[in-house]
Amino acid sequence: MELVANGAIAAAYFIIPLTLLPLLLKAKRDIWLNLLLLILFIFSCGIGHTLSAMNLHNALWHWVTAGVSWAAVVALLKSQTRLRYLGETFSLLEATWEQALTGKLLFERTGDDLKVLKLNPAATAITQKLLQPGDRLCEKMPIHRQQVYPYRVSLIDLYLAALESGEPKRLEYQYKGEISGWYMTLVTPLSPELLYMTFTEVSGVIYDPLTGLYNRRVLEMELEAWEVCLFIDLDRFKLINDQRGHYLGDELLKAVAGVLQDQAQTQNGVAVRNGGDEFLLLLPAPDADSTEPCPIPAAIAEKVLSDILAIEVEGASISVSIGVASGTIDAFQEDMPINRLLQAAETALREAKRNRRSNLPQHRIQVWNSALARRRLRQITLEAYLEQRSSELEFWLAYQPICHMQTGAIVGAEALIRWDSARLGSVSPSEFIPVAEATGLVHRISDWVLCHALEQLAQWQEISTQFNLSINISPLELEDDDFLDRIMQRVAEAGIASNRFGIEITERGIYNNLDRYLQSLQELRAMSLRLKVDDFGMGQSGLAQLLQFRFDEVKVDRYFIPTNAQNLEKVAICRAIANLAEGVNFDLVAEGIEHAEQRSLMLGMNYNYGQGYLFSRPMTAQNLTTLLREGTCLAAGG
Ligand code: C2E
Ligand code: MG
Ligand code: MG
Repeated sequence: MELVANGAIAAAYFIIPLTLLPLLLKAKRDIWLNLLLLILFIFSCGIGHTLSAMNLHNALWHWVTAGVSWAAVVALLKSQTRLRYLGETFSLLEATWEQALTGKLLFERTGDDLKVLKLNPAATAITQKLLQPGDRLCEKMPIHRQQVYPYRVSLIDLYLAALESGEPKRLEYQYKGEISGWYMTLVTPLSPELLYMTFTEVSGVIYDPLTGLYNRRVLEMELEAWEVCLFIDLDRFKLINDQRGHYLGDELLKAVAGVLQDQAQTQNGVAVRNGGDEFLLLLPAPDADSTEPCPIPAAIAEKVLSDILAIEVEGASISVSIGVASGTIDAFQEDMPINRLLQAAETALREAKRNRRSNLPQHRIQVWNSALARRRLRQITLEAYLEQRSSELEFWLAYQPICHMQTGAIVGAEALIRWDSARLGSVSPSEFIPVAEATGLVHRISDWVLCHALEQLAQWQEISTQFNLSINISPLELEDDDFLDRIMQRVAEAGIASNRFGIEITERGIYNNLDRYLQSLQELRAMSLRLKVDDFGMGQSGLAQLLQFRFDEVKVDRYFIPTNAQNLEKVAICRAIANLAEGVNFDLVAEGIEHAEQRSLMLGMNYNYGQGYLFSRPMTAQNLTTLLREGTCLAAGG
């Protein structure tokens, strides 16, 4: 028995070095780990022999030491598997180095230049075989020592700066010399002396194929600090495309691009097609050394405008609106100055479009100014405060009675939101609702209004079953299926007669997306809610279109309510609407009745209902409750 055991131990000691030897020879990379295992192995053999020498001829001890040795072998084998994987990964990396489409280079710093250690075939191809291992970069491609566009320092300095900082750096630049084009380069320092670089040509990605201008991508690049931005938008371009075809549209776009390109060249800037019919002209700060007077941005905009107005393609011409911004802008929460400049120019452009009083050039160009900046800052503040949930605690609903025009009896009311902000004071809904619409916060506000108005209506219906209440909703709600579901659910929960609850939506709002909105309105109608067109007359007056859909009530905007009978135009408009109402059968409400004369004029034209300061200003729910309880008639006999 002991013989067998001793034989096994001897075999074990004999086999272990034999197994390990080839492995150790192969294992080059993980040398320290292997050395450690080898020491462990010798150590365990040593213990075995020491034990024998000390005559502690106990088989158990031999098994222990042999076990430790075998454990070392297993660990070694495992590390070999890891090494095999590493080896495979390295050969894979080698393949991506060889077959990559991007150029890859390894450089070593030599003084103020970089020596090529290794480069892949793509790098050889892109640099047109200019570089070989051992070459110095700037010797072979001296443009690296000059300033490349758009950087104001030489390319080699940027590389060396990356080496010194130890941080990878992404650069996009235009290289004009031995090779020409736009390149994107990623430089990664590996050590204080070694630089790994990948680069690829991006010219195709930077240009807009139709106009040959830069496309928006150019804005993402670290371009120089542009000082001036012209944001240019073609007026009614969609109409031209639809009516005269895309070919003509394209030709006009190219012609506009030509004008902008000329300006960009004379002013040392860049012209960009921002997408669709939008263009940008970005200009640098005036050169401090230049002796020539620098044209002011507005003058450049006027020149661009007149050149574009002069364009004619196949008898078609085009006009544009231009927003101009220059200098430092701090009205926008953007990190990059270029984005702030763009936003300011775009805001100015929207203002030019919104405020267009005539086709005169001065109304087509809007320069970003302190008034726009103030308005923008105010919007940011409102946005920030509205976003806080606590703002809901500062909302309340005012109710303005809607009266029977003849008797002054209160037939209903309109709920109007009020915001008494602790920090901003009381803010008008005409100011904060548009901000809420632009940020999507309006959904939360509408829901708040809906809940509170319904709760109030339920109480008033206990006083009078005939009482109507309406709320204003933003047209954006009609795009939101959730909102429609919510109305349905909340109305059902409120336990009110739904035909006493009205939804007001402005005529202008409906026109933004008539087909879509009419479909949503249809759903509201199916819930038997009262549908009201608000501020009627202020929209684009596609009366016929609007009449496709039968509204229950039309509220004529106060702008159209004549102040006296001499106000012939307004009288004619109100009469026309009243005639229509008779034929199509909807109720008419005259908004903004302030004087008794207006009331009798409107009564004479068959306007049965009115709302306005003559009857009452918007009031608290409590005050209206008192009036309803007492059955008060407002401005009775006025
Ligand atoms: P609107 O729906 O056309 O409401 C009528 C506005 O005219 C109210 O202004 C009201 O106070 C005012 N007004 C009423 N009678 C007279 C009058 O005789 N003379 C004059 N000069 N003004 C009169 P308010 O409350 O400032 O609301 C302005 C607009 O804000 C509303 O116009 C409505 O479009 C919007 N709005 C108000 N509350 C809400 C709301 O809860 N949700 C939404 N989405 N919009 C709301
Ligand atoms: Mg209204
Ligand atoms: Mg109104």
